[in-house]
Amino acid sequence: MSSELDDLYQEVILDHGRRPRNFHRLEGAVSAEGLNPLCGDHFTVYVKLDGERIADVAFEGSGCAISKASASLMTQALKGRTRAEAEELFERFHTLVTEGPDKARVGDLGKLAALSGVSEFPTRVKCASLAWHTLHSVLRGGGETVITTE
Ligand code: ZN
Repeated sequence: MSSELDDLYQEVILDHGRRPRNFHRLEGAVSAEGLNPLCGDHFTVYVKLDGERIADVAFEGSGCAISKASASLMTQALKGRTRAEAEELFERFHTLVTEGPDKARVGDLGKLAALSGVSEFPTRVKCASLAWHTLHSVLRGGGETVITTE
């Protein structure tokens, strides 16, 4: 990866870590809690569905810059997508942070690609994927607490 791209990715993570988007409670939404005990990241993810489509998505809580930036970028990437598209994006995002950018077709992941560097730091994978695991739980009905343990 070029250092220029590295810098850009760094910038995106810092920006979203400091000023997370869609960072609020969503009344009347389905929600689930996510906890990453290793780092102390703790979020609630809210989703409002309109049929099969994600009409609105938000989160609140606290965590490290990576976990917060990842949750923020996730909410931006998901608005207007169908549940099936969201699950597919989750699969690809998971491949990105566990196996690296070559396997994940980074080109059409948009800003989510900023987290590709995480694949080099296994301990941060849980930080980056916490919001996504929580989202997965929300899309299956919510109401539970997801704890990343493996
Ligand atoms: Zn973390």
